[in-house]
Amino acid sequence: MSDEVNPFESLQEQIDDAAAYLEYSTDVLERLKHPERVLETTLSVEMDDGSVEVFEAFRSQFNGDRGPYKGGIRYHPQVSRDEVKALSGWMVYKCAAVNIPYGGGKGGIKFDPRQYSASEVERITRSFAKELRPLIGEDRDIPAPDVNTGQREMNWIKDTYETLENTTEPGVITGKAPESGGSAGRVEATGRSVMLTTREAFDYLGKDIERATVAVQGYGNAGSVAAKLIDDLGANVVAVSDSSGAVHNPDGFDARAAKDHKNETGSLAGFEGATEELSNEELLTMDVDLLIPAALENAIDGDIANHVQADIIVEAANGPLTPRADDVLSERDVAVFPDILANAGGVTVSYFEWVQNRQRFYWEEERVNDELERVITTAFEDLVDTYERTDAEDFRTAMYVVAIERVVDAAEEGGIWP
Ligand code: GLU
Repeated sequence: MSDEVNPFESLQEQIDDAAAYLEYSTDVLERLKHPERVLETTLSVEMDDGSVEVFEAFRSQFNGDRGPYKGGIRYHPQVSRDEVKALSGWMVYKCAAVNIPYGGGKGGIKFDPRQYSASEVERITRSFAKELRPLIGEDRDIPAPDVNTGQREMNWIKDTYETLENTTEPGVITGKAPESGGSAGRVEATGRSVMLTTREAFDYLGKDIERATVAVQGYGNAGSVAAKLIDDLGANVVAVSDSSGAVHNPDGFDARAAKDHKNETGSLAGFEGATEELSNEELLTMDVDLLIPAALENAIDGDIANHVQADIIVEAANGPLTPRADDVLSERDVAVFPDILANAGGVTVSYFEWVQNRQRFYWEEERVNDELERVITTAFEDLVDTYERTDAEDFRTAMYVVAIERVVDAAEEGGIWP
């Protein structure tokens, strides 16, 4: 990844690109480009050996015009104030793109959880939950999983919050285990919306998904589920990667077997379904029909974009393309379907989880998947309608036009607080 690209500046550039197709004054636009508030805190946590370590942690509440702030919490050494600000802004426009009644937020702790024991990760998580407590709540700000967090961490945050508040409020956080009030279908939801976006994109562009070749960069929850579900559509997954490197088989391999191997050994290295190992850059520039970046921001910069051979990119990660990469790919006629649509399945099923928590009435998985399909296909229609109506330079810009209009409409309904 190219570290000179600040994701917060990328977000602001994406908003400016879309603003060119909208007629808003600069004061309206300026407000759309900055968070409302950012919590920056230092957690002091006791380690298993009795020593105390400190961790930097953040929560950005970007915009609440359409509803409570909503977005995940990530654990990663790369977490920074600007990264969290960018990710919280992307949540605002993601929730607006798929038209669910939330604003956007995001949080993170700067550390690598793989270097710590489970009980240390629990104490770090509970310490952060204590700092978050005054800011969150089912009508205020609702965290969720993100990179390196999942049901376990969500359950700890819920438990800490409910204990301190002396209440039961499962809707304070989403992505919980089903036993703690989680929703059926939540774990697979991000990968499922990547699959649905891919299906609609191929259909719209008049291309056949059956036998299309696919490369997936990043094999965590989003990437591995997307690979599996796209494989089920008849496509041929020929290369996948994780932080240990990439594996390739020109005849394709079983996406589920690759995930099983990663679960068993901790990485994709040595996966016997592959015929060769590749570098990350070789995977990103492979001659495939579909490329799915599913890791972190800035995976594809302008230089790599010049060598991308895929015809279609569907973004499973948040912010995987730099603005320069967007320009290059648009010039080269590579169709990019943006993160704020393609990976919105996660937050959409979080919304369903929150609705179920509030009603204390739980849905079957089939209902969750059907409702998710409706949300994503409707958003896809909104995207192509706007793309054609505005003649926007690319699909990302058109999706931002849809989303920004919804946020501004909500803000205008509320008027300006004196
Ligand atoms: N972390 C996910 C995202 O980036 C899900 C957020 C949520 O469920 O609130 O969209």
